Amino acid sequence: MGTGPGRLDQMTARAAEVIREADCVIGNESYLSWLAPLIHGKEVIRSRMGREVERAETAVRLAADRRVAIVSGGDAGVYGMASIVLEIVERNEEKIRVEVVPGITAANAAAALLGSPLSGDFAVISLSDLLTPIDTIGKRLEAVFSVGIPVALYNPRSRGRPHNLALALEIASRHLGPDTPVGIVKNAYRDGEVVSITTLGKAGRIIEDVDMHSILIIGGEESRIWRNGTDARGIITPRGYHRKYVY
Ligand code: SAH
Repeated sequence: MGTGPGRLDQMTARAAEVIREADCVIGNESYLSWLAPLIHGKEVIRSRMGREVERAETAVRLAADRRVAIVSGGDAGVYGMASIVLEIVERNEEKIRVEVVPGITAANAAAALLGSPLSGDFAVISLSDLLTPIDTIGKRLEAVFSVGIPVALYNPRSRGRPHNLALALEIASRHLGPDTPVGIVKNAYRDGEVVSITTLGKAGRIIEDVDMHSILIIGGEESRIWRNGTDARGIITPRGYHRKYVY
């Protein structure tokens, strides 16, 4: 199940209900901490990052005789736990009922904080090369930036892969102008939330500030800074109404 970006009021009512009804809740320590009010008194299994397969196997095993909620941040189907759980259920031919509960993914959360950068077609790419080879990531970045649509970059940086973000910005810069807006949202809807806006031409300077709790949204060829007064307040990608209507 997806718990949204990190605050109870950004979780769906169904996700909260599923946790309340669960006998056992399994998840990564960082996600479980803010769920404390909902999981009090339940059997809680805390796991670490990198232990996803083990966690999914435990959840499936326990689900034989109890209701188990296995938790992912954001949406469970977007770089989350849903697929590995489904794979294990299929492989073991388990006769258990599985429900995938959707949640607000980081791209949607960050887009809302930035204004409306993902108003039409957009792409989502993870820069993590733990499960996807870096050559494949490079090809996908080339493809999506070449068509000029906004791109949300998940897992933009961690200690293990400091160069992948520089690679993504370099590929973006070959296809888009230096004034293309770039939004960086750290800890969307969580403690320590920071929203910043820059441009592709200046984005190299912010690489050091980007961490694994951040998501980047690189605008497409129609995206621009949205101003309210003189300040840059956000990023907008017009949907195209201006081509059809006068307003
Ligand atoms: N299933 C999650 C994504 C997990 S991958 C979802 O749907 O959101 C982990 C990456 O997601 C992080 O490295 C970061 O890029 C992004 N992310 C998740 N939650 C975030 C948040 N609250 N603020 C900013 N980025 C977030």
